Amino acid sequence: MPHHSTSFDPSQPLAFLAGGVSLDISTMEAENSLYQGIHPSAFVHESAYVDAPCRIGPRSQVMHFTHVMAQSMVGSDCRIAQHVTVYPGVMLGHRVVVMENVRLNSGVIVQDDVYCGPSVTISGASKLRAAPSPHKTTGVSPTLIKHHATVGANVAIAGGISIGQHAFVEGASVVDKHVPDYAIVRGNPLRLVGWRCACGQGLHFTANKIHYGSAKAPLPLAQTECTSCGAAYSQTAPHRVQRDEKPNGATQRVS
Ligand SMILES: [Zn+2]
Repeated sequence: MPHHSTSFDPSQPLAFLAGGVSLDISTMEAENSLYQGIHPSAFVHESAYVDAPCRIGPRSQVMHFTHVMAQSMVGSDCRIAQHVTVYPGVMLGHRVVVMENVRLNSGVIVQDDVYCGPSVTISGASKLRAAPSPHKTTGVSPTLIKHHATVGANVAIAGGISIGQHAFVEGASVVDKHVPDYAIVRGNPLRLVGWRCACGQGLHFTANKIHYGSAKAPLPLAQTECTSCGAAYSQTAPHRVQRDEKPNGATQRVS
């Protein structure tokens, strides 16, 4: 068996994946204690290769003919399907689904609860070069897929791009610009075609007729409530939507 397995400390948190990512790749590369091997409850098919050192979290699955290279980290309850290539230094959060034939290059960070459809290619951090450099990881912007984003089949994502939380990238899109939170994007060239709630329901904004408020509390351009779950959203700029907490706490947090 080519599998790597070492002792595993489940108390070690995946702190770098929690919330907003503040990443120092150089530090991570030097921090070998983060690579705790394959958790005993994880499943790695005998045809898959998982190179040491790495981390495959509890109950995660690595399916047939997939190759997870050294210095990769996979959280708990992930499913990595067949024929996936995970390059060194890739980080996946918890409950991430990676479908068949996906390629995740070095510098890719995928937060929790992301769905990555078949044959998606995600390029790594910007500014990485083939020629080695002593400063190869300084000033690098990772390619970041934020939590609960959905990436459709055959999507190509350029290096250094970030895809917002709960965003939806439709199949076969070419993503060469940042995708806002809650956005639905499509095509090549990439177009913003709508917004969706954290529950998945499409959002339809009603523009505020008055575009001023106080300096401290400017009115958003538009507002809406989800017709499915009732969550409230504000559009604060043409390419920015945020979820509003209702003052009485009536809205349940979806994530
Ligand atoms: Zn909703």
